[in-house]
Amino acid sequence: MAKINPFESAMQQLKNAANVLKLDQGVLTLLQNPTRIISVSIPVKMDNGELRIFEGLRVQYNDTRGPFKGGLRYHPQVDMDEVKALAFWMSIKNAVVNVPFGGGKGGITVDPKKLSRGELERLSRKFIDLIYKYIGPQVDVPAPDVNTTPEIMAWMVDEYAKLVGQRVPAVITGKPIDMGGSEGREEATGFGGVEVLKQVAAELKLEKRSSVAVQGLGNVGSFFARLAQEAGFKVVAVSDSKGGIYNPAGLDIQKVQEYKKTKGSLAGFLDSQEVSNEQLLELPVDILVPAALENQLHKDNAEKIKAKVIIEMANGPTTPEADAILKQRGVWIIPDVLSNSGGVAVSYLEWVQNLEDKHWTREEVLNKLTLYMTEAWQNVLQISKQYQTDFRNAAFILAINRITQALQKKDL
Ligand code: NAD
Repeated sequence: MAKINPFESAMQQLKNAANVLKLDQGVLTLLQNPTRIISVSIPVKMDNGELRIFEGLRVQYNDTRGPFKGGLRYHPQVDMDEVKALAFWMSIKNAVVNVPFGGGKGGITVDPKKLSRGELERLSRKFIDLIYKYIGPQVDVPAPDVNTTPEIMAWMVDEYAKLVGQRVPAVITGKPIDMGGSEGREEATGFGGVEVLKQVAAELKLEKRSSVAVQGLGNVGSFFARLAQEAGFKVVAVSDSKGGIYNPAGLDIQKVQEYKKTKGSLAGFLDSQEVSNEQLLELPVDILVPAALENQLHKDNAEKIKAKVIIEMANGPTTPEADAILKQRGVWIIPDVLSNSGGVAVSYLEWVQNLEDKHWTREEVLNKLTLYMTEAWQNVLQISKQYQTDFRNAAFILAINRITQALQKKDL
């Protein structure tokens, strides 16, 4: 499969929604261009004394509705197009879930598994040294993403405090709880996705115990699978990077997780058959949940997908070509900018707690999150009916309208 440029995919999605909305050309052009791109070369003294330079990026895409907001990714494939796409999607997502943030994203081109803990800490602190003048609680608020952890956020927030001479926990979210992190952040994305699933199932009048396949049993996928099972769905297949397992009678997710912890892989789990990640996507299930990587549903497998509903928990799992095929086949696609927005909604709640010097209980946080997800779904559903369009277009239209309303009150 040819490499798919994620920024081109994101811009295609924007154009689709802009056509339905008959969007003003000026606003469209504004949304096609990031506000600011910060590109830095990060020098790091390695443990063996060698000096190495790493490339770092922060894309501040749009701050019409509030400070730029989005994670930092550490990955060998981090590049400008990927970070721009993710920063754009954050601008849309934050408006869909209606938190007062714009969108941003950042990253460092590095395989963190190849660095020692000390090297990783020096890299993370040095990155903050180079960008600290351009971030802040009311300017740009980074967070974790792929391969970045609460501990890395703790180093960054500590470095920022040293540079500005005061404690500023609200500059970064996704911190450990003892550094001002929020209860409920760990499960927030999966939890939010299952809240959306429950609403979708009610709207579509899906049978109780509808079957679910989850690709990617990481943070997002494992909470999603467990909570979906607790909500009465039958999770029949799950996978990780090594492959997946399938049992049409249903899997006990807690037991699957314990098994994976002891054996290091899913293969051989009680009464299940092994499936590849490609096969998992094509299983005869009611609900398919890609929760791992981008571009998993593409033009070559879109015709073979049997699910009636796709809940996108990964960012960008469906290419625009697959989107068109699946839509034409009547599959309901619940877009990433809605279904995985629970993570950033709780990041917002963390930011508020930091600014107000408060600490809410897990129950308080998850109750608030449920309200955000329910309202976002209801808004998207209403717009999809009003414009007779699919849910991705509806979510984009909701976001674009909210951004445009804020834009009209600004001195441009
Ligand atoms: P993670 O690193 O915890 O988990 C990723 C999972 O995907 C792992 O189980 C890994 O084994 C699996 N995987 C890797 N390659 C795979 C492959 N080829 N096929 C199948 N599985 C594969 O990451 P995460 O935080 O769970 O994020 C997953 C996705 O959700 C990403 O797209 C991320 O951007 C998105 N997302 C995460 C959050 C969050 O709060 N963590 C919020 C919004 C969106």
